[in-house]
Amino acid sequence: MQATTTLGDKMAVNGLGPYDDQNIFARILRGEIPCRKVAEDAFSLAFHDIAPQAPVHVLVIPKGAYVSFSDFSAKASEAEITGFFRAVGAIAKRLELESPGYRLIANMGPDSNQEVPHFHVHLMGGKNLGRMLVA
Ligand code: 5GP
Repeated sequence: MQATTTLGDKMAVNGLGPYDDQNIFARILRGEIPCRKVAEDAFSLAFHDIAPQAPVHVLVIPKGAYVSFSDFSAKASEAEITGFFRAVGAIAKRLELESPGYRLIANMGPDSNQEVPHFHVHLMGGKNLGRMLVA
């Protein structure tokens, strides 16, 4: 099964694998390329998005090799799932986003335009983000 499909001039991830261990987030996890780290624990790594679309735009990724939310939710252990989502909540709290509010986005597959084939959650905030879909 192809890991990606062509969508216009971009490659969109099909979200169903196989896992490509050369994807950019796998390389960040291995320390091969740098990131602006926000937090790290046994199950997750959080870092600033390289092209932020809000005043706060942090990506939270699991340490395990999962292509997408579908892959993660189906195959990750309960400890991985619990650890990951508790970390997302703790990071939002630490960044003082709880009171003004924040948005979580997880793109999965071609219709979402997922680009990086390693499951990640976008944690966005720092201003009123408006309506959810603008397209
Ligand atoms: P997706 O469309 O897959 O949900 O989102 C991928 C995100 O990864 C995009 O918001 C993009 O800006 C971000 N991104 C892509 N490459 C890099 C990188 O090398 N470093 C960081 N920090 N973010 C990246």
